[in-house]
Amino acid sequence: YTHSFDTPRYKGDVTVHTGLFINNEWVDPVEGGSIEVINPTTGKHITTVSAAGPKDVDLAVDAAAKAFKTTWGLHTPGTERGRLLNKLCDLFEQRMDEFSALEALDTGKIFDKARHIDIKLTLDVFRYYAGWADKVQGKTIETNEHKLAYTRHEPFGVCGQIIPWNFPLMMLSWKVGPALATGNTIVLKPSELTPLTALKFAELIVEAGFPPGVVNILNGYGPVAGQAISEHQKIAKVAFTGSTLTGRKIMKAAAESNLKVVTLELGGKSPTVIFDDADLDQAVKWAAHGIYFNMGQACTAGSRIFVQEGVYDKFIDAFTGVTQYITAKTGDPFSGGMEHGPQVSQVQFDRIMSYIESGKSEGATLHIGGQQHDPASGGYFIQPTIFTDCKPDMKIVKEEIFGPVAAVMKFKTEEEAIALANDTSYGLACHVFSMNINRAIRVAHALEAGTAWVNCAQSGDVAVPFGGYKQSGIGRELGQYALDVYTQVKAVQINI
Ligand code: NAD
Repeated sequence: YTHSFDTPRYKGDVTVHTGLFINNEWVDPVEGGSIEVINPTTGKHITTVSAAGPKDVDLAVDAAAKAFKTTWGLHTPGTERGRLLNKLCDLFEQRMDEFSALEALDTGKIFDKARHIDIKLTLDVFRYYAGWADKVQGKTIETNEHKLAYTRHEPFGVCGQIIPWNFPLMMLSWKVGPALATGNTIVLKPSELTPLTALKFAELIVEAGFPPGVVNILNGYGPVAGQAISEHQKIAKVAFTGSTLTGRKIMKAAAESNLKVVTLELGGKSPTVIFDDADLDQAVKWAAHGIYFNMGQACTAGSRIFVQEGVYDKFIDAFTGVTQYITAKTGDPFSGGMEHGPQVSQVQFDRIMSYIESGKSEGATLHIGGQQHDPASGGYFIQPTIFTDCKPDMKIVKEEIFGPVAAVMKFKTEEEAIALANDTSYGLACHVFSMNINRAIRVAHALEAGTAWVNCAQSGDVAVPFGGYKQSGIGRELGQYALDVYTQVKAVQINI
């Protein structure tokens, strides 16, 4: 399939294979079906790609298992794995505009943001793990003079990886980078909503020279291909990013099949806590980025905003101003100067609109937004939306909306803010704004979340671990920590 772009941000053709990528070859599904790909900016059909069924998953797993036993795993030294990953990065770096265009087309992301955030970070992640490939080390453990004991960090074997649609390539890099660096082989399933960039990425696997079977990429539906991966007897580990509901299903399938190791990055309802002593201009800027970034489709979205009473009115004024600015810059991801694109799909659009209705009916005040933007375009645009007068038991405060909808609440004391912020089953991230360093650190430590951002929001770094407390997940990705979730420790004890 070839898509011709002739837009202010990108001109050129981008071609993708639409089949399944197994054993470094493009194949048709044996028993699967197909996926209709929709452009969220227009609501129009773009192309059709293959969808894998369980037998296709079997073929991919067999290829990955063979590669692990014969060419990859401990058969390829870390230096060589690092070299191949660096080669992959060089090839990727030459095509970043192409990848950005395809990602923006498939997801509705603003092209410039895709280029400078998603695609840039994807490259950073692969480079980072290319550097780690020859630096994974065990330890020697002193016990007594008649024994030599040491540990080895060995790969699991075949890893299943199931990724979401909100950051398709970036999520791919978080999973594929550390898995390859540590010697695992992969069967990866992108989201059925955004299958395109992973298909383009597969071409680089061949060009970089990875042996057949090391990386297999199968598009497919969650309950079919995703389920087949989660319950596969020959998959040793499954890594997933997506909703908490699906995370539960994957963990159940893993438990009931072969007790495969599970890493989960799940949903969130992250608090943004703004104290009277915050730098308010900065707090407003970051709070807006926290909730509106990627059209609110971020698991770390700062969707519950708690503001101390002394700055509440000023905050609302300024936050409204930023929201109006973003609303004015809502439109085609490929036009220049845009800030905000469409939601990913009709289903997500409907879901967010129903949350907006529930906010109104539960008694919150719809302060600004709440409407479809530019219905004539056919795209899934929703205005950035602020609710005020929110209460902790409202659905818009309790549940993950995954859209550009902020629920704002007022608080009096630090203790009250901590209690309100922690009143959630999620624990992915939190944001704290205060220029009082003691308070900022105290509150960051008191909040129950895997990431605490102080005086900033959504600021990712490849070297810093990421993952959830409570029902936001299990395990950590990124940084050196990701090497641990892709290796198992063998202790060797030798009698001297
Ligand atoms: P989802 O969890 O259903 O989908 C994510 C991935 O899981 C996709 O690849 C999907 O095909 C796969 N999947 C679905 N059912 C599966 C199953 N039974 N077994 C194995 N894999 C399965 O997410 P969604 O339906 O696309 O979005 C719904 C909600 O999930 C969103 O509104 C949001 O709340 C949340 N979400 C969170 C993240 C995140 O990064 N935390 C990302 C995407 C979606």
